[in-house]
Amino acid sequence: MPRVVVAGGGHGAHVLVATLALRTSLEVVWYLPYRDEADRVMRAMAGSPGGLTVVSSAGECMVDRGRVVVTRDPRMASSAMAVLLVAPAFAHESLLEGLSPWLSPGTMVGAIPARGGFEYQVKELAGRVPGMVAFGLQTLPWACRLEVYGCRVRVLGAKARVLLGSRPQAAAPRVASILSAWLGVPVVAGGGLTAMTLANTGQILHPGLMYVHIRRLGDRALAAQEVPLFYQEAGEEGAALLASMSAEVMELRDALARAFGGLLDLGGVVDVYTWLKDAYVGQIDDQSSLLQALASNRAYRGIRLPVVEVAEGRYRPDLNSRYLTEDVPFGLVVTRGLAELAGVATPVIDGVLTEVGAWMGVVWLREGRLSPEGVARSRAPQRYGVKTLAEALAGEFEPIAGKLEPDVREAVGR
Ligand code: NAD
Repeated sequence: MPRVVVAGGGHGAHVLVATLALRTSLEVVWYLPYRDEADRVMRAMAGSPGGLTVVSSAGECMVDRGRVVVTRDPRMASSAMAVLLVAPAFAHESLLEGLSPWLSPGTMVGAIPARGGFEYQVKELAGRVPGMVAFGLQTLPWACRLEVYGCRVRVLGAKARVLLGSRPQAAAPRVASILSAWLGVPVVAGGGLTAMTLANTGQILHPGLMYVHIRRLGDRALAAQEVPLFYQEAGEEGAALLASMSAEVMELRDALARAFGGLLDLGGVVDVYTWLKDAYVGQIDDQSSLLQALASNRAYRGIRLPVVEVAEGRYRPDLNSRYLTEDVPFGLVVTRGLAELAGVATPVIDGVLTEVGAWMGVVWLREGRLSPEGVARSRAPQRYGVKTLAEALAGEFEPIAGKLEPDVREAVGR
């Protein structure tokens, strides 16, 4: 059976491992090099009568522990047809560092989700692994939470469909059909990895709303009931900011479309309001404006600003939240770096980066450009020596090297 390696040991990785083991006959290898995660998972599975259990509104599914090989040995990737990174984007580098010496020609290397700039991170690797296809998903297909590490995870909801981008772009339809079969969620070809960098709506929603809420709250500690609802209480100001940030990303999309003619598939890159309506069909009570869509999306109900407790019953915004530590360096800064190469001005995004940078202790921009520190701490194209738009897109338009092996039926193993 073809082997697939899942790298990462968090909420999403538990769901992916179980999904692959339940839906396919693939050999599922769970690569856990981080801290003592491999030992913890092995212990947890051994002590649980059901192995790994996934709980959802449809009921409980159990994966026999014999279906999954748990390892911290990267050599297990040597004959894999695919390596799937399911971890926060800041973990991709160390996971890839371990695995990359062992990848064989033609391996598919995917990030679920991609976030921004995965295309630059894998560029050098693609040069060393003949026929390698890199791909990324726009979002994690599931909202999920671990209940017991290593043996029980809850799926809170699944996306109706997920966009996939690949490098080369031409591979996207084939990889999307393989991933649809593996995941049981419709995965739709959405162009190249550049499209995924731009289509990452987390880079707008998360830093944008952190900026609005934190500025609005000022410098005082909050009682629990004062912690604002993150989306529902975005307000006029929040909706206007998100629309302006999104409009700048759309300007960049249009500039890239002009520069590369019809070559670049950017059809899946839409503004944040359109994305919300497409992504949450049937869940938004009032779609009449972005403000109302944010306030009335049932999937967002009850989600609050991330906070930390600073004294008993008193809270401050959590500046170490993923909404900043992942979505800024692996999202907004990447897009800002690409805009710099394309000569597209992003004054609203720049304002957000400057302010959240002050909270994060990073000067992302200096004199209207990404700062050396900003480049070094992000996945912007400049971090990988990319100096022109043509270099940023290199590899996106290449033909697929050889046939993508194996075909979909073989890949599912059923
Ligand atoms: P998570 O926080 O559960 O992942 C943590 C895991 O990442 C760790 O257990 C470890 O295995 C790995 N990791 C962390 N730092 C590492 C390092 N330095 N080196 C190697 N490995 C490291 O993440 P998740 O909830 O599974 O989310 C995965 C991705 O999906 C993230 O990009 C997240 O933003 C996104 N996402 C998650 C959800 C969700 O419901 N969980 C929803 C939407 C999007």
